[in-house]
Amino acid sequence: MSENEQSGFKVCLIMGFPVKNSKSPAMHMAAYKALGIDQEFIFLPAEVKPEGLEEAINSARKLNIKGVSVTMPYKQSVLKYLDVLDDDAEEIGAVNTIVNDEGELVGYNTDWVGAITALEKKTNLNGKKVAVIGAGGAARAIVFGLVKKEATVKIFNRSKEKAASLARDFDVDFAGLEEINQLSHFDIIINATSMGMNDDQSPIDKELINEHHIVFDVVYTPKETRLIRDAKEKGAEVVYGYEMLLYQGVEQFKLYTKYEAPVREMEQALLAQL
Ligand code: NAP
Repeated sequence: MSENEQSGFKVCLIMGFPVKNSKSPAMHMAAYKALGIDQEFIFLPAEVKPEGLEEAINSARKLNIKGVSVTMPYKQSVLKYLDVLDDDAEEIGAVNTIVNDEGELVGYNTDWVGAITALEKKTNLNGKKVAVIGAGGAARAIVFGLVKKEATVKIFNRSKEKAASLARDFDVDFAGLEEINQLSHFDIIINATSMGMNDDQSPIDKELINEHHIVFDVVYTPKETRLIRDAKEKGAEVVYGYEMLLYQGVEQFKLYTKYEAPVREMEQALLAQL
């Protein structure tokens, strides 16, 4: 029996650098409380420096840590320390969720589920034309999900080479940001860059948005980004970044605890922190 089990708690962690502002511990703890399993599970932040990642993952295995949420900058670098990858995580090439299955570390990616669930609250994605701005880790998970749902995707990115590389992996179209004025042809616009994160910038001009668009900003700090404000002013429907964070967490919760997640309590805990 491991030290954790002797102490009575099943421990889950979020690993990243930094993690002090992570919203995940409060969101998961609220869920444990809502289901009355807060004397069984505990969710803690674990700040891990890059040189300590391998040891931290091996310790999680040995100490029987039940689940590890992986955040920036380790979603790709953690892959080599895991025993098994689920098919989606393998295709995306990134892991944000690790389940410790009796010493075997299994990697999952719930970011794509989070983004797609948030979007599907507003519309069916099959056949929709979607402009994804950005070609980093978040864009990668989102493009994977959109292609799975048979949407037609075009990636726009500042670095055109990165857009080309992501587009090649998922067999979709791409362009540089200088072609962003074509947005009226799209049903959905997604900001998957970090623009707007505490800088009040938007990757697109407000005039490119119209009332037929659904605009999804993956940035969740602040909640009301400049892009979200612009979209609302133009009469577009919006999907908030926190909704993706919520639904990726809901999926993680199920993987860690095997219980259905109390979505409303998790959402309230998340919103209270924004
Ligand atoms: P990343 O891998 O570092 O990618 C960053 C992307 O942003 C790249 O496409 C980059 O373009 C672009 N970019 C950055 N600054 C820019 C600027 N000034 N002008 C134009 N493009 C710019 O980061 P990531 O992991 O994909 O994360 C992106 C954002 O998503 C972050 O704000 C993160 O917090 C958020 N996120 C949210 C959730 C959620 O659940 N809501 C989940 C994951 C991530 P280049 O390629 O040209 O450098």
